Amino acid sequence: MSIVNNLANVRKQLPTHVRLVCVSKFHPDEAILEAYAAGERVYGESKVQEMSGKFERLPKDIQWHFIGHLQSNKVKHIVPYVSLIHGVDSEKLVAEIDRQAAKIGRKVNCLLQVHIAKEETKFGFDEPELIQFFESGGLERYPAVQFCGLMGMATFTKDNEQVKSEFEHLKSIFDRIKSSYFNQSSEFKDLSMGMSEDFPIAVECGSTMVRIGSSIFGTREY
Ligand SMILES: *Cc1c(COP(=O)(O)O)cnc(C)c1O
Repeated sequence: MSIVNNLANVRKQLPTHVRLVCVSKFHPDEAILEAYAAGERVYGESKVQEMSGKFERLPKDIQWHFIGHLQSNKVKHIVPYVSLIHGVDSEKLVAEIDRQAAKIGRKVNCLLQVHIAKEETKFGFDEPELIQFFESGGLERYPAVQFCGLMGMATFTKDNEQVKSEFEHLKSIFDRIKSSYFNQSSEFKDLSMGMSEDFPIAVECGSTMVRIGSSIFGTREY
């Protein structure tokens, strides 16, 4: 299957209100250029150096989304150009993004990552921490951060009911945060959930943004 065919196949499973992030991590520039030629402009990367290299080399109308675990000391490298940071998983990281963004007079779009999976290894705020963040005025503390919504990853399992209940849980957290701390018309509108294996379930549960890699570009070679 070619990238163009894979893309068409993914696209036809997505309602028009769901945005596609093509996860290009570990794939070469040529693969991105094929998807680019097919009209895709939004790419997700999980390593700072890899994303910055691709940003330098590839067309400037590409929107780069950082989807990995971001270390505070690397924030400054992506803040000048990143279009959305999905995995903001601690207040310490929010603070560093705010500091670096303020320095260059930018407001940086971020999604707070929520830990919804059973696995210990996945990063993110748990629900009480997230509520505490907003209750304590987190929104006002970081004026150079634009809070655009939430992101989460389900447990890696074949048990679709488990995956579905985790996505439903994240959607309920999203609705609660949005109604408690934002205007309905605010920028807080994105719920990033769903990957190659589980995006149809995520879409069913209210995802507005899916992050899809292997179903478009094939398996990754690490
Ligand atoms: C790699 C990655 C994806 C894409 O995974 P696929 O299974 O290849 O679609 C999505 N989200 C995050 C956070 C990732 O690290």
